[in-house]
Amino acid sequence: MLISCIACAVPSSPQSLAQIHFRLQTREVVEGRLKSFSTKNSEREALIRKWFAESGCKRANLSEQALDHKLPSNVICVLPGETQQVIVVGAHTDHVDSVGDGVVDNWTGAVLLPALLYSLSAQPRHHTLVFVGFSGEEEGLVGSQYYVDHFTNAQRAHIEGMVNFDSLGLGPTEVWASHADKVLLDALASVAAASKLPVGTMNVDNLGTADSESFARYQIRRITLHSVTQKTWPILHSPSDKIAAVKMNDYYDSYKLIAEYLAYLDDALKPAAATKAEKAAH
Ligand SMILES: [Zn+2]
Repeated sequence: MLISCIACAVPSSPQSLAQIHFRLQTREVVEGRLKSFSTKNSEREALIRKWFAESGCKRANLSEQALDHKLPSNVICVLPGETQQVIVVGAHTDHVDSVGDGVVDNWTGAVLLPALLYSLSAQPRHHTLVFVGFSGEEEGLVGSQYYVDHFTNAQRAHIEGMVNFDSLGLGPTEVWASHADKVLLDALASVAAASKLPVGTMNVDNLGTADSESFARYQIRRITLHSVTQKTWPILHSPSDKIAAVKMNDYYDSYKLIAEYLAYLDDALKPAAATKAEKAAH
């Protein structure tokens, strides 16, 4: 087990000088889980649920949300924080049937959900972190749309941000910047600079979509991290989407970056309403 700390790179307020604490699941565990993929979507969902439990998700906080369609459920682990303010951490568990193994898209993302729960759960958190494995992404964002639709307006107002990851490990971490909230994007840049972990900008507006867009429809701040470039894009939804396509060093770097990013956001992310008021005051 590793415990990492950083002093934040951009001391925009005294609060952001605070030390960020998180721990990392070993590379052996993360890689081992990545390699034990199933090609059946229902088994993939069950594996993530099992690893949530093994990573310390209490039974009362672990649930499944059945969808209307003949799809596996969304799988949800809540890590209660000191407040009701929520950060949603999401990745889809399903893959396109009968084309490749869907390891890159998106077993790489799904496997990080329990690993990140482990990373963030060693100490009390300010925000309540909700880790969601979405079903039916490849059917048209079905699971994430269902998830966000089934809140009341008051419940949705507690969601401060949504961090999504899809198709990691083809290379260094990339961010879909043109569809990311500026506050979340700036925070990512700070963490990348402090941790010296790479992040590039690769917009996929004309190539595809992601579960983060289900949240954008409700004006919830969101960001999607991936690893796709113009060159590697054809791997997705093709017979080449196999474990051999994953660059393990890059993949583990993405995990480290996202763990540190979430720990930072928990400390630094203020309610969207407060951010707006601050802007108006300047
Ligand atoms: Zn995907």
